[in-house]
Amino acid sequence: MERSKKIVFVSHCLLNQNARAFGSEKYPGAVKDLTDMLTESGVGIIQLPCPQINYNGGLNRKLKTKDSYDNASYRKHCKNLSTDILNQVQNYLQNKYQVLGIIGVEMSSTCGVHQVENGSKRGPGKGILIEEIEEMMHKKNFQVPIIGMNLNNLYSSMEKIQTLLNYS
Ligand code: SF4
Repeated sequence: MERSKKIVFVSHCLLNQNARAFGSEKYPGAVKDLTDMLTESGVGIIQLPCPQINYNGGLNRKLKTKDSYDNASYRKHCKNLSTDILNQVQNYLQNKYQVLGIIGVEMSSTCGVHQVENGSKRGPGKGILIEEIEEMMHKKNFQVPIIGMNLNNLYSSMEKIQTLLNYS
């Protein structure tokens, strides 16, 4: 058996909805359609840390706005996590693996890629972890694609992810 040498990084809660703020979970556990698609494609799956579960309130937190997370201490927390994440990405790249992308979660104040929910408002924007990852990749002068999974519109997100897998 040969290894695929292909890797995707996915937001923590796509594999474990138990990490979501209370009331925002959409599945009992993993997002099965996504895990089925990734498993069938033969990629290795790396679960990103959830920045919110080891920050104030942790597992028992309520859903909060991006504004309420956007402070120096949470930014620092996300920056530290981004350093670890990108070290892992670079380790694979330097060893000739393909890192196909990072899959975030749309609407999240932390992991949103194109859309963020801020209180009752939804609009274009990025979550804090994704902003920190992008800024750090820019400084380190490399890039991997970042795609957002919209749990309210699973199938359009799945198409984007399938495209990413097809082009690898
Ligand atoms: S912070 Fe990110 S990983 Fe954690 S629950 Fe929210 S979207 Fe998922």
